[in-house]
Amino acid sequence: VPVLAVVGRPNVGKSTLVNRIIGRREAVVEDRPGVTRDRVPYDASWNGRAFTVVDTGGWIPDAEGLALNIAAQAEVAVKLADAVLFVVDATVGITDDDEAVVKILRKAKKPVILTANKVDNQQLEAEAYSLWNLGLGEPYPISAAHGRGTGDLLDAVLAVLPEPPPMAEGKEIGGPRRIAIVGRPNVGKSSLLNKLAGENRVVVDNVAGTTVDPVDELVEFGGREWRFIDTAGIRKRVKEASGHEYYASLRTATAIERAEVAILVLDAEQNIAEQDVRILQMVREMGKALIIAFNKWDLVDEERRYYLDREIERELVQVQWAPRINITARTGWHIDRIVPALDKALEGWETRISTGTFNGFLGRLVQEHPHPVRGGKQPRILFGSQVSVAHPTFKLFTTGKLDAGYERFIERRLREEFGFVGTPIEIKVQARE
Ligand code: GDP
Repeated sequence: VPVLAVVGRPNVGKSTLVNRIIGRREAVVEDRPGVTRDRVPYDASWNGRAFTVVDTGGWIPDAEGLALNIAAQAEVAVKLADAVLFVVDATVGITDDDEAVVKILRKAKKPVILTANKVDNQQLEAEAYSLWNLGLGEPYPISAAHGRGTGDLLDAVLAVLPEPPPMAEGKEIGGPRRIAIVGRPNVGKSSLLNKLAGENRVVVDNVAGTTVDPVDELVEFGGREWRFIDTAGIRKRVKEASGHEYYASLRTATAIERAEVAILVLDAEQNIAEQDVRILQMVREMGKALIIAFNKWDLVDEERRYYLDREIERELVQVQWAPRINITARTGWHIDRIVPALDKALEGWETRISTGTFNGFLGRLVQEHPHPVRGGKQPRILFGSQVSVAHPTFKLFTTGKLDAGYERFIERRLREEFGFVGTPIEIKVQARE
């Protein structure tokens, strides 16, 4: 959801305006120096379009715990928001503080909407239009207290706010789900593919413009059509001589990149190898959904199972979130568990949490487990939002760098609370310094 930041000096009427935009009276408290609001982003909508309003006044404390000055507010707003709503007081006119903000906003690459508040009469409206000369475009005269002009203002805001990004972010959206079956030679990839495809192979689809002849197959199972990426690479019976491993790995990387979800096939009889871990790393780095299939389960006895469990604990800690299934591709045992696992992973991959829910979560988390103090300083998380799905990516605005351990803690908590089964999660931190 796009973010609109509201910037302005204390007392220009930001709170009143934000209340007007979100359609609630009780939510936002008045600007008071030194008062940090506990809840920063508000969900809003206008003409059926949702967006998030962040009132930057009063919630960003400086070193002394006072509300950040307005120029610093503007800098934060420009960084975090998709558009900035700059509020001035028409009855006061432009002050030096406002001028400082204008300088920052003019240079910003984000759209800015200028609004003059407290325009309660005709004469003030004429004054408001003199704000054209600030070089921030058309000034919108409003009276936040009475609601005058706020409709036109919101129309202007929506015109510059970006549409929410599509689910798969422009990469071959829609169509059958794209699956890459990956793993070392002889673990049973083509056996699995054959079992899944059965007699239902529909189309062999050559993808033009590629060098290594990747061929995708459209296959129907579980009542749906799926696209298997580069099945030629899976079926080709290359007894990989040394030196070819590089190409095999390149081919695997390409398949993962083109896929939405990867099935990593492991031979349950064999130890988890470095090559397997490398593939897992590719999946995480490329941000794809993942399930892990332990194949040749018919050969696993109790003793092997014991050692396998130890190995999983040791080697697969980085991907504890991935659904694991034990299968026997040769006979088709447990093959019916593949579709539910794929569905679960893809659902986690595309999960979106609203900005309000996410910040509620952050608030509780910080309260229970504040970030440790480092060198006399304690970085604070000011605000966060999920910036994309598939894979889920979160951005946190903080007052300083976070410990790697604390970031992992946030991820663990996110998974406990919202699931995110089968998908890597990325957390980006933007520290205000
Ligand atoms: P790929 O190189 O990963 O595509 O592996 P293949 O599907 O060609 O299988 C390699 C070998 O393992 C073949 O001899 C298969 O018959 C055998 N195999 C595959 N799946 C199973 C299984 O579930 N159990 C057993 N015992 N053997 C299997």
